[in-house]
Amino acid sequence: MSSIKPLPPDKPNDNNKETRCPRCNSLDTLFIDEDKRTTCSICGYKDKDAHEDNPPASENTFARAQKYTVSYGIEHLGEIDTWTRAVYHTGLDHIRREEYDEAMRSFYRALESERDFIDAHLWIGRLSDDPDVKREHFSEVIAQMPNHQEAMRELMVLNGQLSADESARSADASHDPQQVRPDAPAKAQTEQQICPNCGGALHVDLTGTQVVCGFCSYVKPIDSDRGYGLDNVSMALLQQRGKTIVWDVGEHLWHCDNCGADQIITGAMTNICPFCGSSHVMKTDALESFQQPDSIVPFLISEDDTRKIVREALNSRVERFKGLFVKNKVVAARMQATFVPMWYFDAVIEVHRTTTNKNTYYRGHQQVHRDKLTEMAHNVPVAGVDSPPRYLLQRTDNYDLDAVTPYDSALLSGYHAQLYTRNFERAMMLARKRISQTLRTQYGADIPSDKEVRVSPMFQQMFFRLILVPVYAVTLTESDGDVRPVVVNGQTGAIALGRAEKV
Ligand SMILES: [Zn+2]
Ligand SMILES: [Zn+2]
Ligand SMILES: [Zn+2]
Repeated sequence: MSSIKPLPPDKPNDNNKETRCPRCNSLDTLFIDEDKRTTCSICGYKDKDAHEDNPPASENTFARAQKYTVSYGIEHLGEIDTWTRAVYHTGLDHIRREEYDEAMRSFYRALESERDFIDAHLWIGRLSDDPDVKREHFSEVIAQMPNHQEAMRELMVLNGQLSADESARSADASHDPQQVRPDAPAKAQTEQQICPNCGGALHVDLTGTQVVCGFCSYVKPIDSDRGYGLDNVSMALLQQRGKTIVWDVGEHLWHCDNCGADQIITGAMTNICPFCGSSHVMKTDALESFQQPDSIVPFLISEDDTRKIVREALNSRVERFKGLFVKNKVVAARMQATFVPMWYFDAVIEVHRTTTNKNTYYRGHQQVHRDKLTEMAHNVPVAGVDSPPRYLLQRTDNYDLDAVTPYDSALLSGYHAQLYTRNFERAMMLARKRISQTLRTQYGADIPSDKEVRVSPMFQQMFFRLILVPVYAVTLTESDGDVRPVVVNGQTGAIALGRAEKV
């Protein structure tokens, strides 16, 4: 499948000022190398400071028990009998006197009579030096309170998903990671899609799930161990908040290993080298600024099918009727097949609803009814890019997500794929907004006029995955000069015609 013209970058680059190498004075030769230092591609100059995003904490780690304040309140939600509570309080008294062994014994005794007692599990996890013991007890807490921040952080540290410093920063409410646009393009770490047998170009077969050589019989094994991915939003947020800087890389420096050419590219995960024709996929960059997709939905609709689908849509009654009033005859069309990064969210939401009888407003006591329901949301999509326009991607989002394949960079061979510019955190906020609006409408509808309803959705748990979905981005030029964006779903053929706009 050929790409006709690259899509425009997703956002204007705001560091257009010219940069010169401080040593050789060459123009625009600086980039961020894999050692995270600003480097000159001509003279090899390296800046002494690295783009370090997570400097180690300056404070020494102090005694484990001291970083917790002893509070006699309990977090446990169920009933705890008086005796168990007394044993637990004895444990806390021991901590105050720095008698940690005795404290541990008290907490274990509390668990003997109440095995789910969250607060006792928490203290054993905090005081123990044994990673297995810590894991066991923090896991007990998570089993009962899936969003318990401290237990989640501790487990992530035990699993190597968070460093001790990152954990401390993510626990600090006053810490806010900065979003920073680096001062030079970041070097892309790329992989050339080439046959290891004969050096021929690789391409994806008709099923979209296998990568084959166009010249010999080579079939590339796909790394399917990644699974389909479903990340916990709370855990990803802790990782994000543990950072000091979140890099917002606008430009990437692509170095072609085949011919040695350098190129600066914006917003793409793939590139065909214009000098030697070799095909490359970006795996990461010098600042590790983006995450890999979890899975990919293959193209099932051909370019010919797409042309037919667009023609039929334009010949529809509605479109012909519009043509009576405006000159919307299409004089030119260009089409690009591209993989678009989409975030998909699953959520468990507790909906709190308060219904007030308006007729009782002015009487002594109001008639108020409160109820609580649990709702689920599945695969709520948020586009990771702004082009093609989000409203068109939303209208064509009928992907069969049961047909996804675990992501492997080889599955992009010969294709164009966009790099997301909206990270999961910003996408999550949009998803929450959309889910909340839907629930408010759903629960606020069919309410008699004498009642007033307040609906507050509380997000209990949220999961996400990043999926590359196949899209044909079509741009139509009309006889009056207007330009009209069209999106065709590359899996199902669903089409959305955009608004014609003057350019
Ligand atoms: Zn230089
Ligand atoms: Zn080959
Ligand atoms: Zn090249």
